[in-house]
Amino acid sequence: MDHAEYFRSHPPRCIAGFTAVPAELPGAAFDGHVSLSQLDFEPPPGVTIHAPELTNPIFALACRCGGQRHFVHCHCWINPDYGDQAVILSPLDLECAVCGKLTPLFDSDLHGYDVEIGAGSSSVRGEGDRMVFECPTCGRQPLQAFVRFEFSGDLFDEESSEFAGREQDLFSWFTLQGQCPKCSQLLSVADFECA
Ligand SMILES: [Zn+2]
Ligand SMILES: [Zn+2]
Repeated sequence: MDHAEYFRSHPPRCIAGFTAVPAELPGAAFDGHVSLSQLDFEPPPGVTIHAPELTNPIFALACRCGGQRHFVHCHCWINPDYGDQAVILSPLDLECAVCGKLTPLFDSDLHGYDVEIGAGSSSVRGEGDRMVFECPTCGRQPLQAFVRFEFSGDLFDEESSEFAGREQDLFSWFTLQGQCPKCSQLLSVADFECA
């Protein structure tokens, strides 16, 4: 089976509220796990390294009304363990700039590999008042949203047949990027390791 083709035609359930179109983001670098083909060292004699090949489909999201831009509602947490760096936490909702509809996008307690297999969420989740994500240059802008999911090729192994038919919900990484309509910058909005 062509894994990339499977994931392009089977968007995860978390984006079911949107019109999702497979997309490419040339030049965009994503955090994630390492594929076997990315290992650039020779293992010592007698050592075999096993690592899954990963597939990273990207979808452009539009509102059901056709609106292409959304305000991103999210939690912002200042992480004291990482030099007070601002971290964006879920739940993430998108507000259409055309019709104003708020559509849920991603919740680290409901989506991703660990949650799907019943292992619970590994991410911190926000509560209470949320903010709207801002372009560092232009401030509050409705962004063209792109989501990226990372999938392990292992999902299609025979031992994993309990997952057959719902591989698209077993992603090991979720990334939200947004393009600012004013300055055209592609902004890294949020990143979640889910496995
Ligand atoms: Zn809309
Ligand atoms: Zn901007």
